[in-house]
Parts: sequence; C-alpha cells; structure tokens
Amino acid sequence: MARYIGPVCKLCRREGMKLYLKGERCYSEKCSFTRRPYPPGQHGQGRIKLSEYAIRLREKQKVRRVYGVLEKQFRGYYTAASRRKGRTGEEMLSLLERRLDNVVYRLGFAGSRTDARQLLRHGHVLINGKRVDIPSYVVKVGEKIQLVEKARTFVRVQLAIASADKRPVLSWIDIDRENFAGSLSSAPVRDELNEPEIDEQLVVEYYSR
Ligand code: SF4
Repeated sequence: MARYIGPVCKLCRREGMKLYLKGERCYSEKCSFTRRPYPPGQHGQGRIKLSEYAIRLREKQKVRRVYGVLEKQFRGYYTAASRRKGRTGEEMLSLLERRLDNVVYRLGFAGSRTDARQLLRHGHVLINGKRVDIPSYVVKVGEKIQLVEKARTFVRVQLAIASADKRPVLSWIDIDRENFAGSLSSAPVRDELNEPEIDEQLVVEYYSR
C-alpha cells in the first residue's frame, strides 16, 4: 500500500505547526519546527496571504498528513463520512482515529503513526488473538488489540511506552500496559483530539466546494 516516504519535518513546517510525526524527537529541542518555525524553501520566510481556498486546502493537507493517508484514500474517508448520519467532519475524524495504525499509536506502543504502521505491517499486532496487518483496518469498540510476545521486547516499543505519558490522555482508550494490550471503550471523543488543533469543518468545505 502506498505511503508518503519523503521528509516529514518539512510537512510540519509547511502546515505551520507541530504534527507530531516523529515520535520522541517531536517533544525535544531537536524538533525542526521549534528551530525553524517557517515554511521550507527559498521563500519560506516571506509573508504570504492565504486565499479562502488555500486555507481549506492547507487544513485538508494537515489532517491527511497527521494520519499518514494519501489523497485518494483520504477522500474515501470524506465520502464515507458524508454518507453517515452525524456531522461529516466529526464522522471523518472518527473513522481516521479508528484506523489500526492510529489506535496502536494511541495505545502508546509506537512513537508515531508511521512506527505503528511498520509494527503491524510486520505482523506484530493481534486483534482478538488474530494477526491483522492492514493499517487502514477500522477498529471496533471492544476489540482487543495486543502486541505479539516477540514485539514486547523491541527497544522502540519500550521507548515508545516510556514516552507515551507526554501525550494527552484519551478517555475512550483502555490501556492494559502489563499485557501490552488495549481497546476502544467507546467511539473517539472529538474534544480530545486537539494535538495538533484540527478544524475539520474546513476539510468538509474543501471537498464540498
Ligand atoms: Fe519533525 Fe516532529 Fe517537530 Fe514535526 S513535530 S517538525 S515531525 S520533530
């Protein structure tokens, strides 16, 4: 499955905020955005007034980059959300949050969504006891996510768990650190998804223009 493999810190600088794409480094002084908080490129430090269209485009790109999803698939989330009963923007975020790579990251077993994606692509994640290696798998409430025995000793998993406390606590995620397991206790709560700040309504307006 295709994914973005270019430099990620440039994405944060382009979007003008930390997107937390690199795990531990994002919370340290080495963070590129902390050191150079302006867009990349020759004209990065020039002043640019964004048009209404550009504001919506940037917000869409930002959300897409936070969750590590390419355009075609991201539009698919918007389309699926628009067919649901609730508010389209919130439904879209809920679907993105319930992606398996995101849930593994939220459980603290990976330092970033990219790490989580690699972990599960290599067969280290079980759902209700069965191996699942599809990053876009939508986790249902109550399903038990667990790391396989071998993965529990990985240095990067240990480091991720040790630094997970720096991230916001989410009321809808149940974590069983002892058994390297966890689950969703309910649907994602929109108010808790603020790292980074997202205005999903702008994304909806981008696609419905
Ligand atoms: Fe890089 Fe993370 Fe800082 Fe973004 S937040 S610039 S990914 S270190």
